Amino acid sequence: MNLVLMGLPGAGKGTQAEKIVEKYNIPHISTGDMFRAAIKDGTELGLQAKSFMDQGALVPDEVTIGIVRERLAKPDCNNGFLLDGFPRTVAQAEALENMLSGLERPIDFVIHVDVDQSILMERLTGRRICKDCGATYHLVFNPPAKDGVCDRCGGELYQRADDNEETVQNRLDVNMKQTQPLLSFYEEKGYLRKINGQQDIDIVFADIEELLGGLRK
Ligand code: AMP
Repeated sequence: MNLVLMGLPGAGKGTQAEKIVEKYNIPHISTGDMFRAAIKDGTELGLQAKSFMDQGALVPDEVTIGIVRERLAKPDCNNGFLLDGFPRTVAQAEALENMLSGLERPIDFVIHVDVDQSILMERLTGRRICKDCGATYHLVFNPPAKDGVCDRCGGELYQRADDNEETVQNRLDVNMKQTQPLLSFYEEKGYLRKINGQQDIDIVFADIEELLGGLRK
């Protein structure tokens, strides 16, 4: 199954992505995670991405499209994939269509996790992430059992540099402007499916499972 997960920052994409890849056993391709890993490893890609990310701006299309093209060519994508955080622009969506038609692997669904903008700021500034395994928590909505410690692996939890209020506002502005044309693009292609993201995490996932139930693996 070839999936794209969409939603504004804080809509719960990351949480749902973890559940989808676990249940359906497909690779989770998050461009944000790939950029963060590159920054941590001090690679050339990391250097290119860091200044954009620190300002909450998008990394240029040619850089982003390049890393996704390389990633989709890997053998673990043969049975499907979940794209998370990509595409973010129509140019990226068009590039993706070209890549996938070359690979004869069209998108099955673009899942849009829909949440009101007013709720997103609160969600984002309370987000905490495990340094070791990347699991995500929320101080209010999904707290760890023990403050500052990952339930899953015991790692230390941190706040992402771009989850502070000023950068979040900029990320939301950039994303809102970019999202609408993308939603129209995928609606026209008939791929778009809207899921209500303002429900309990497990109910959001149940809605996604229902949607995917009809697809071959
Ligand atoms: P995310 O983890 O998806 O919120 O992404 C964090 C940051 O990585 C974004 O604010 C961008 O700076 C960068 N980024 C991630 N995915 C993309 C993309 N598809 N296009 C451009 N920039 C991206």
